[in-house]
Amino acid sequence: MDNKAKKILMNTFWTSSGWKSSPAAFTGEDFDYAKSKGFMFDPVTITHDEIVLRLHELHQTITKERVAAAFLHSLSTKKVHLRSALSSWALTSALPVHTYGERSSARPNHSSCRDCNFHRLMSDREYINQDLNVLNFERVKWGGIRLNWLLYCWMDLELFSKEEGFEVTTEDAAILSGMLEAIRDCADHESARMLEKRWKEVIPSSKNERDVIMEIWGYAGLPVPRDTPRKRRGGSHDFNSVAEWQGDDGYSQEAVELYFGAFL
Ligand SMILES: [Zn+2]
Repeated sequence: MDNKAKKILMNTFWTSSGWKSSPAAFTGEDFDYAKSKGFMFDPVTITHDEIVLRLHELHQTITKERVAAAFLHSLSTKKVHLRSALSSWALTSALPVHTYGERSSARPNHSSCRDCNFHRLMSDREYINQDLNVLNFERVKWGGIRLNWLLYCWMDLELFSKEEGFEVTTEDAAILSGMLEAIRDCADHESARMLEKRWKEVIPSSKNERDVIMEIWGYAGLPVPRDTPRKRRGGSHDFNSVAEWQGDDGYSQEAVELYFGAFL
């Protein structure tokens, strides 16, 4: 990772006291440098249909083994930007090639496009002069925030396709085992927030990073809420993909095998 380009991206949006009230301008020498290193971008204009086609192409070369290895590699190295390829891949791998609203959602909770909605993707018909810099800032700082945006999944996998070398060490595998063990240790009523606190002992990370990992795993179908009665009302507002999750849901052994079988 080019540290100078990373710093420029960080300084565009962030100060020691948090978000800048308005980001630095996307022009000038620094911006051009970060752009040349693939960290920052000019505004993008693209349609939903173009993104869906491009995602289909990206899936021809990006395998689940690769996104899983990158995720694990990120655990000990703290390369948080390599994590969300797992959820971006999972959310879009079964997405059929379709046009926006080819079938409309009867009850849209993510998108008016039924195919996107079914796959829990938030999407629009077209994106005009859209800023990708803030999405990449969030990706590099915390591991991604708007994980289920069609636009994010596309940007994430596009950038991921240029990455290589994801060595999975015994330390990474041990962290993975610890994460799964913490899920098994949860009491029936425990929420995603309680699991996040358990993960504190296992993953070298900040709370924000653990929250993102939780969402990524939720979108990958690892901890998945079942059809059983909920022990708490209203779910957990801190989370999206795992808002309804509770301890006795555990995790999907099938999904664990699918992604991480080779590393356990
Ligand atoms: Zn769609």
